[in-house]
This record gives sequence, structure tokens and C-alpha cells, in this order.
Amino acid sequence: MDPAAMNEFELIERLTAGLSTNRHLVVGPGDDCAVLDLGLADHWLLFKTDAVVEGVHFRRDSPPTMVGRKALARCLSDVAAMAGTPVSVLVTVGLPIGFDPEYVMALYAGLDGLARSYEVSVAGGETTVNPERVIVSVALLGTVAKERCLLRSGARPGDALFVTGELGGSIAGRHLEFEPRLREARWLADTFGPHAMIDLSDGLAGDLRQILRRSGVGAELNAPSIPITRAARSAARLNTAAKLPLVAALTDGEDYELLFSVNSNDAVPLLDGWKARFPDLRLSCIGKVTAEPGLRLRDPNGIRELGEHAYTHFEQC
Ligand SMILES: [Mg+2]
Repeated sequence: MDPAAMNEFELIERLTAGLSTNRHLVVGPGDDCAVLDLGLADHWLLFKTDAVVEGVHFRRDSPPTMVGRKALARCLSDVAAMAGTPVSVLVTVGLPIGFDPEYVMALYAGLDGLARSYEVSVAGGETTVNPERVIVSVALLGTVAKERCLLRSGARPGDALFVTGELGGSIAGRHLEFEPRLREARWLADTFGPHAMIDLSDGLAGDLRQILRRSGVGAELNAPSIPITRAARSAARLNTAAKLPLVAALTDGEDYELLFSVNSNDAVPLLDGWKARFPDLRLSCIGKVTAEPGLRLRDPNGIRELGEHAYTHFEQC
């Protein structure tokens, strides 16, 4: 296949097929973090790397403190998706020649501030030259209790599907200032034990497909239950060329909310428990997992198949 014709998911699949492994690797490419067994009694290590690139994930005029914060927050969101605890990061920054040192200082301050608030150590890293664009890459180590670790592969037919927060329109600003759902994820793992979980980075439809693919199941979403941000609604109101709010909620990237499946018997107690524990963060039951493969959307007009139209970073470049 012509590499230019591949989307991000196809490229990753080809790159990662048959890579080197060893007895320490529990979960390799294809989940939110890699999972390693280094002989700790009850815990596994989580291992993650992620980069933000100027022009793709932020703009040259984005506040550098927010760029640094976002670079770390994306990694933390992936640790949340496994119900883990972040421990330590290394930071690599690529900068155009002659770059303003104040910019880099501010970038580090933003990253370090978020690290402090989650008791994550910034253990080192490096700076290098990268012509034209700023790039920030974060490598992270975390831990997760073995019996609490949540993968994308555990969804079962009949499960209820839930999503935290509201979706769509993050480009209006939320993509720079989101809060990784670490506390919420650990609470979920401790109380209701979701069967599968992912954080939403590529859009609800695309990320749900990752769970469905890894779990060998399908899903039916209930359109009126999908929570939509005010930003996505007002974008559609102000600009007739903008996506319809529901389409934005399904396909916009960078929501960084949690999508998970639980036993449907737990749906009501979960909603009650959530409201008591996290009164300021919405939790919505948006559909169910089905044995029949594929992704379907139910609205007042009936049920229709949802095609592959997930947002991908490559299309943005
Ligand atoms: Mg993720």
C-alpha cells in the first residue's frame, strides 16, 4: 500500500506487526499504554510516549505554558484509560534554531505545574534542534494494580457504554486545558470494574471502534444520549459550514474524556455513585455493546450504520 494513502491506524498496524518482544511485555502496541511485568508483587508498569507538534496539536501563538501542560496531560489521560497512577516522565523538546529561551522556560513551567499537581516527577529529558516546528515528546512510567488494569479488549455483549463529560468542539480551547480523568478512572476501577476503557483522543466513533475491534464485538449508540459541548453547539449555530453538533461529538478529536463499558446491571448504581462522588462532571450512558459487529447509531428516525469517518491527526496536517 502507498504509505501516503494509509491512515494513522493502518500505518500503526503495519509498523507494529511482529516487533521484538520479551517475557516482560504483558500488553504491547494497540492499547492506551504498554503494560510491563518487572516482577513487582501486585503491580504492573505502564509505559507511554506521546508527542505534540506545532501546527497539528497547537499553534505557534498558543500560550507555551498550555503547550507544555497539554504535552503531559495527554500522557496522563492515557494512564487514566488504564486506571493507572503516573509516576515519572522524561521530556524531549525539539526547537527551531534561534528559539526564544523564555518560550521553552514557560513550556516547562506549564508541564511542571501539572506534574506537581499529580505528584509526577520530571526525571529528565533532552532538547534538540528541529527545523521549523516546535515538538514536545513526553515518555511516562506509571503503575497499575494487576487486578485493576483496564484494557480496550474486555467489552462484552450486553454491556452498557458510558462516557464522561461532554464531547465535540475541543478546538475552541478545551484541547489545551483539559483535566486528565485519573481520579475518576481509579474510582471506576475500584468500584464498578469496567470491562473495557479508552480515553477519547481521536473522536468518540473512532475510539469506540478501537474497543470494538480489540474486544471482537459491536455497539449501538443512542444519539439523543450523546453529551455535546456548548462549543460544538454554538460553532454549528454561528457557522453553517461547521459540523452538526452530533457529528462533532462523534468525530472531533481531543476530548480526553473516558469511554468505558460496564455490566448493564451496574448502570443505575454507577450513575448514582458517580453523582455523589463527582457532582461536577457529567456521566452519560450512551448505548450498549452488541454481539453483532459494527457500529450503529439509533435516533428517533431509526437505526443506521456509522461509517468509518473518525478524525485522524494525519488528515489535519
Ligand atoms: Mg489513548
